Amino acid sequence: MALTVVGSIAFDAVKTPFGERERMLGGAAVHFSLAASFFTEVRPVGPVGDDFGDEHIGLLESRGILTEDIERVEGGQSFFWRGHYDFDLNVAHTDDTQLGVFGEFEPKLSDAAKAADTLFLANIQPDLQRQVRAQCGAGFSGLDSMNLWIEIAKDSLLAAVGEVDCLVVNDAEIRMLTGESNLARAARAVMDMGPRAVVAKRGEYGAALFTSEPGTDTGDGGTFFALPGFPLEDVRDPTGAGDSFAGGFFGYLDGTGGDLDEANLRRAMGYGTVLASFNVEEFGTERVARLGREEIDERFEALRRMTQFEGLPARRD
Ligand code: AMP
Repeated sequence: MALTVVGSIAFDAVKTPFGERERMLGGAAVHFSLAASFFTEVRPVGPVGDDFGDEHIGLLESRGILTEDIERVEGGQSFFWRGHYDFDLNVAHTDDTQLGVFGEFEPKLSDAAKAADTLFLANIQPDLQRQVRAQCGAGFSGLDSMNLWIEIAKDSLLAAVGEVDCLVVNDAEIRMLTGESNLARAARAVMDMGPRAVVAKRGEYGAALFTSEPGTDTGDGGTFFALPGFPLEDVRDPTGAGDSFAGGFFGYLDGTGGDLDEANLRRAMGYGTVLASFNVEEFGTERVARLGREEIDERFEALRRMTQFEGLPARRD
């Protein structure tokens, strides 16, 4: 199986209460690809400027990521994001966004990228997401976005949402996109637009999965599942947590043959949670870049133990 992802490939300047970095490798497609690389063959699509050095390509390749669809634009500048977090690490404050080479980007996917089984449209201008969707025949597709695009490109974002199978966004963004304050109703409104699954990311509180598959859990013909964030005492930089979650989630689904039954979706939620938790322990890609599969599986088992519920007797007496 193989996975194609389009999204920002960037440099980030980030300040949190626990430190700062002036220029580090980042971008939604980068965080996504690193997380997914533990499970499957992943191919990021997008442009970079000539400020994007061989060492950055080398880091991606050291994780087995296929980099042929990363296009280097001579004389161009890579996407740049500057942001900070105050005491509440769940809220990112954007100070500067420079699209750079993404401003003129016209995606042309290689044959291998077009042939991927799974496609993820990570956060970027929604028209670009749609252009990539139109070129890729993937049987399963997902999409992430952010408040900026809901504010300035809502119509094209709604069109893009209607063309994918699974929406993965922050809970506040689902509410903003649908105008529904209740999350379950908001997820239902998204599924009425086309997707058959919605993942609501909730920062340190974890993530919730809604599907429109027949199920008995919610009583309205769909299923529901949620996991907490993995409890950590040291969180330094939440940048890329959502993308790492999505990379773990879609990477695991693709790597297990695209099996979308409820049990596999729940396991994928677990791997997404685990990859996001490693990501936030250090700045940018620092922690995930030196992560090993064994550490991932160990944390996955710990998460399974701490969320065990069904195996308990229903009553105490
Ligand atoms: P996350 O913390 O998972 O929401 O993602 C943060 C990443 O998204 C950073 O590495 C940024 O480079 C990237 N990013 C920030 N703003 C944008 C934007 N407007 N479009 C695309 N990517 C962005």
